[in-house]
Amino acid sequence: MSSTAPSPQNTTRPETITPPLTPKPAVKDGKEEPADINIPDNYVSWTLKNQTSRPPITWDNWWQEMNWLNLSILTITPVIALWGAFYVKLRWETFVWSVFYYYVTGLGITAGYHRLWSHRSYNASKPLQYFLAMAGAGAVEGSIKWWSRGHRAHHRYTDTDLDPYNAHKGLLYSHIGWMLVKPRHKPGVADVSDLSRNEVVRWQHRWYLHLIIGFGFLFPTAVAGFCWGDWLGGYVFAGAARLCFVHHSTFCVNSLAHYLGESPFDDKHTPRDHVLTALVTIGEGYHNFHHQFPMDFRNAIKWYQYDPTKWFISVCEFLGLATHLKVFPENEVRKGQLTMELKRLRKAQEGLLFAPDLDELPVISWDSFREQAERRPLVVIGGFIHDVGHFMDEHPGGRHLVAKNIGRDATTAFFGGVYDHSNAAHNLLSMMRVGILHGGMQHGLDDKSVPPSQRLRIARYNESGLPSASSLSSSDSEGLLI
Ligand SMILES: [Zn+2]
Ligand SMILES: [Zn+2]
Repeated sequence: MSSTAPSPQNTTRPETITPPLTPKPAVKDGKEEPADINIPDNYVSWTLKNQTSRPPITWDNWWQEMNWLNLSILTITPVIALWGAFYVKLRWETFVWSVFYYYVTGLGITAGYHRLWSHRSYNASKPLQYFLAMAGAGAVEGSIKWWSRGHRAHHRYTDTDLDPYNAHKGLLYSHIGWMLVKPRHKPGVADVSDLSRNEVVRWQHRWYLHLIIGFGFLFPTAVAGFCWGDWLGGYVFAGAARLCFVHHSTFCVNSLAHYLGESPFDDKHTPRDHVLTALVTIGEGYHNFHHQFPMDFRNAIKWYQYDPTKWFISVCEFLGLATHLKVFPENEVRKGQLTMELKRLRKAQEGLLFAPDLDELPVISWDSFREQAERRPLVVIGGFIHDVGHFMDEHPGGRHLVAKNIGRDATTAFFGGVYDHSNAAHNLLSMMRVGILHGGMQHGLDDKSVPPSQRLRIARYNESGLPSASSLSSSDSEGLLI
């Protein structure tokens, strides 16, 4: 393990922060090396501690700190859409086409940029790759290479300053703010050399500007124009408004999916599962699962959960366009669920009172017990001495049945001899424990000494085990009952 700090050329200087996510690959023998191949073992802690950040945004410098290109795209598009909503008639054909094209371009991001290229969760044939590359370009969210580089950093450094859309910086920042201002920190290193070798990714990167104009605006406008003569409607609704929805749909994965919902698989980081997020993101809302099992082609693992991206990939597999769909081992998925379930139960357990620990109770001889029982209502059951003073009048079978066993061993009577008491009765009895009878475990059965509520108990790995019958006879000390 190396503990050396990164060399000076790895240090982050403010002037190297922009452009934000462009990788600087090292080239060896004409081949691009993985960007993270030479990082030191302490890369994350060192970088988080030592990286310099851009100055805080103030009234004097804000105009220098904005990303004006992103700001223009993300404001002009909704302005066109809003203008159209008031002044352009929406024809039903255009509406259907806009919704359809929303799904096409959205899938370009979710099934293409995200699950195929960022996570390699399946293999896609060339025709499917070209389709996804063009559809993804229609969503105008940067090239595959740029997007995937940022997304891989997001997964590797989730919730830290090396995560380009760090959820800890707030809902607005993770939704859109990170694109509108120049990043305060350089995102952590993430390798995309596999994408640099992919001819479709290279082709899309090269022609990206043409592709976004073509599939972002010209194509959706032309379909509505040529097919039913609605050129303006096609531009406004299938172009601008649709793009606006696709943008914020994707942005919700970075914001809402790290904010709203449950953590059924792990709660170490912010990603959450919620059906609402899934509905607005074409199925990317099961984000807690996704961050735990990012190479799984699914986000939703239950058949009834909304994950059209998963369905689309499955259909592509059926058509022979996609292969090697990756699924994380069910056993490991269920371990995550079990851990979280146990955590919840542990919390519930910690909210309840249980019988005193064995080492809190004095060990009393039979003679001492008999003597003390003349002054207090004490009964032996299952090797424990109980003070039943507060309970005698509450006893459902009547006070007399308790009273007649004071100063006696009522184990047999309690466990079926007179009445086979319920688990609740046994639990309640254990709360009256005041001592342990020396040598009183002649019955030797755990089910008489361990209350039902404590037979299955959630304990941390470093906590001692449950009280056991064998530990009861180990002490010879004498004492007074508590
Ligand atoms: Zn995420
Ligand atoms: Zn992801």
